[in-house]
Amino acid sequence: MTASDILFTIAEEVQRCTACNLHRGRTRAVPGEGPANARVMLIGEGPGYHEDRQGRPFVGPSGQFLNDLLALAGLRRDEVYIANVVKCRPPQNRDPEPDEIATCTRLFLMRQIAAIDPIVIVTLGRFSMGLFLPGERISRIHGQPRYVNGRLIVPMIHPAAALHQPQNRPLLEEDFRRLPAIIADAERQRSAASPATPPADEPPEQLRLF
Ligand code: URA
Repeated sequence: MTASDILFTIAEEVQRCTACNLHRGRTRAVPGEGPANARVMLIGEGPGYHEDRQGRPFVGPSGQFLNDLLALAGLRRDEVYIANVVKCRPPQNRDPEPDEIATCTRLFLMRQIAAIDPIVIVTLGRFSMGLFLPGERISRIHGQPRYVNGRLIVPMIHPAAALHQPQNRPLLEEDFRRLPAIIADAERQRSAASPATPPADEPPEQLRLF
């Protein structure tokens, strides 16, 4: 199966999923979207009102802002893959529960990551960051790239948090402006490494950039 086939299969499974209680309140599940060979994958928290209506990630106000942020990084939305930690909207936009996160990421998100095999994962907000960097504080490490299991993770403040707390906005914009250099460096590292020896969990060369 190609990566596209795998993503298509996962999307079908997401649409039928009843593995946790979140399915009860959904209008449409939101599997994620983007090219199967995306170099950059962004992972948000979960669908909000607009995403639940349309079945697509980041299409409401934080999606508009995310598009602007991607432009600051010189990225087009159609060249990145955008997914969420949970695929169904939590009621009243409450935080996803630990068991919902565990179930949804095991069934879907981790398989999406494996299929896409992105060079860089940008986490948006604390739930997404917590999958890769548990125990960290977003206010302390936002914008700082780290290798986790051989893949570069860039934790970012959630766009909605920057819309609600305007003091976060310049921080998030600055972090996105730095993304092209981080991606370029990660690409150099990946092409230098043989497939048998992915980068280890150690301070990346990228840190020289900051
Ligand atoms: N917020 C998210 O975390 N994900 C979306 O898809 C939309 C808003």
